[in-house]
Amino acid sequence: MTIERTLFTADHEAFRDSFRRFMDKEIAPFHDDWEEQGYVDRAVWSKAGENGFLCMALPDTYGGAGADLLYSVIQFEELWARGFTGIGFGLHNEIVAPYILRYGTEAQKQHYLPKLASGEMVGAIAMSEPGAGSDLQAVKTSAIRQADGSYLLNGSKTFITNGWHADLVIVVAKTDPAAGAKGTSLFLVERGMPGFEKGKRLKKLGLKAQDTSELFFNDVRLPAEALLGDINRGFVCLMEQLPWERLQIAISAVAASQAAIDHTVAYVKERKVFGQPVGNYQNTRYTLAELQTEVQVAQVFVDKCIELLMAEKLDTATASMAKYWTSDLQCKVMDECVQLHGGYGFMWEYPITRAYADARVQRIYGGTNEIMKEVITRAMGLGGR
Ligand SMILES: Cc1cc2nc3c(=O)[nH]c(=O)nc-3n(C[C@H](O)[C@H](O)[C@H](O)COP(=O)(O)OP(=O)(O)OC[C@H]3O[C@@H](n4cnc5c(N)ncnc54)[C@H](O)[C@@H]3O)c2cc1C
Repeated sequence: MTIERTLFTADHEAFRDSFRRFMDKEIAPFHDDWEEQGYVDRAVWSKAGENGFLCMALPDTYGGAGADLLYSVIQFEELWARGFTGIGFGLHNEIVAPYILRYGTEAQKQHYLPKLASGEMVGAIAMSEPGAGSDLQAVKTSAIRQADGSYLLNGSKTFITNGWHADLVIVVAKTDPAAGAKGTSLFLVERGMPGFEKGKRLKKLGLKAQDTSELFFNDVRLPAEALLGDINRGFVCLMEQLPWERLQIAISAVAASQAAIDHTVAYVKERKVFGQPVGNYQNTRYTLAELQTEVQVAQVFVDKCIELLMAEKLDTATASMAKYWTSDLQCKVMDECVQLHGGYGFMWEYPITRAYADARVQRIYGGTNEIMKEVITRAMGLGGR
């Protein structure tokens, strides 16, 4: 019934199998406890590094495997299908490392990339602030150049994924506060630098095992070499990376949605009400038929976007379509599937309940779905901001 996916080779599928075995051994037995404590154990990062599951796409000179992006696609799919949403490998592998690879100096690459690939360092990216999320031009954190060429970093960030474990944070700061977006730069900030403090880990509706933190910078003195990319070009770097970052959310949204449908089909076959399985009722069957149709359509669209991305042809507006439409769909699928589970769908021990809670943020982070529509309409030549 499903349309065969044509993206993956036998090597990709072998990687999928080995990553599944890794999840069974190193994540599944612990994820519930990690949800309780609010963060994953640091050891899972080192184990992932040892087993070649970090930064696979980096060239081997920097500790990676020179793998194509499909290996990361597989990781996103598998983690979200299993509900292991505490694991922040995706952001580390496919946002932090690529920024350094693309914009870093040779010295920065040699210093940081092998450590990210081995799991010795955990990476994070800090854009959002209490007063600046969608509107990143409003960032207040500043890094002011000093007479000796160093920078003085001041400000605070919030909602930072991997923030509490992070050893290395790419911080977005104003280097020319009067110049708006054109005065924004990126900095590599390391754990332990005087003045860099972690705030509290934030309690969340979902992604409960994901450490999401506040970060504070009080007169952190950054050497000139901490600048990532060209001065005042930070916003351009952020914009260039958007298609892949948004597609990552779409990939996980489709995988989580398909897994939810699969759980629900199994559940409604078993659960009997008024003497027959819930799956026999027309409402159940039609609801699942509609959801399965939409998820199939989404999968084909997302696979096409992946293909375009790999050919360097995916534009930001199309990636924004994928992000907004699939994350809206994910929330709809979870809501309908919870309903078909009845009261059990409200119990934390059921995967559908966690999947429902985890889905909600997908419409918010990575640029809210309203911002996605702004991007799409701008590409259509429609005004507004
Ligand atoms: C779990 C989690 C993890 C995150 N991880 C990170 C991370 O690792 N690094 C990081 O930097 N950030 C991270 N974020 C922050 C995230 O990217 C922001 O929350 C998001 O961009 C929205 O910004 P905001 O929260 O300030 O909402 P706001 O910008 O205050 O938006 C509030 C509402 O206004 C709407 N809105 C805003 N502007 C417009 C407009 N122009 N037109 C119409 N509607 C508009 C929004 O769509 C939204 O509905 C994370 C957030 C969460 C919840």
